[in-house]
Amino acid sequence: MPQPLILVTNDDGVAAPGIAALASALEPIGEVWVYAPDRNQSAVGHGVSLHRPLRVVPIRERWFSVDGTPTDCVMLAVRSLLGRRPDVVVSGINNGPNMGDDVTYSGTVAGAFEGMLLGIPAVAVSNLGRVSRHLEASGNVARAIVESVLEHGMPAETVLNVNIPDLPLDELGAVEITRMGRRTYEDVIVERKDPRGISYYWIGGNDPSHVIETGTDFDAIERGCVSVTPLHRDLTNHEGHRALQQHPINLPRNSKE
Ligand code: MN
Repeated sequence: MPQPLILVTNDDGVAAPGIAALASALEPIGEVWVYAPDRNQSAVGHGVSLHRPLRVVPIRERWFSVDGTPTDCVMLAVRSLLGRRPDVVVSGINNGPNMGDDVTYSGTVAGAFEGMLLGIPAVAVSNLGRVSRHLEASGNVARAIVESVLEHGMPAETVLNVNIPDLPLDELGAVEITRMGRRTYEDVIVERKDPRGISYYWIGGNDPSHVIETGTDFDAIERGCVSVTPLHRDLTNHEGHRALQQHPINLPRNSKE
């Protein structure tokens, strides 16, 4: 049986320490191919480059730098360059958390999401450190999760969003299956003056906080545990769907435009 093919990407860029830690942690369990953005693409979300050419530069054996987004990387690799379908797509290890509402901005999660849309089991991995000190430990956690995915498969149309406290292995709590929590963003927009006295704005002020709720990603992390949140492809609010059907909206058929 051939080795599993593992496609690795990230959003911090191909030179980030997190992707090196992830790739080397996964080497023992498969053939690892890296396609990653040539620069930091954090918070690009699920963006795709539709209006310019994309260049792919080989860096070393099975490592490629792409001047695009994480989604571009996965799309190019899976739909064209790899020539063989990966058994799993792993995105990370991100520098910093991707929990709660932040997953909607995350390029790390989007890289995995694209893998899932292409029908491939997909895992996004983030280390919570502002400066990550225990990437090797996080890599080992990622490997254990990817091994489990390769062995047992995954629920359909699902991305595993993994957040790992920046701790050595023997200080980490258990792996907990969680749901997506809620962020609270405060003082997000910072206004300053440039040297010519003209206002400019910077998005991202104080570190965002979160709502305290049991069972969430934030809750697991607060207790030093590894959070694994299954994210679903279908963003439909099914309860809301039923509620909206209670009040049918009729189009104004008789008006003249
Ligand atoms: Mn990032």
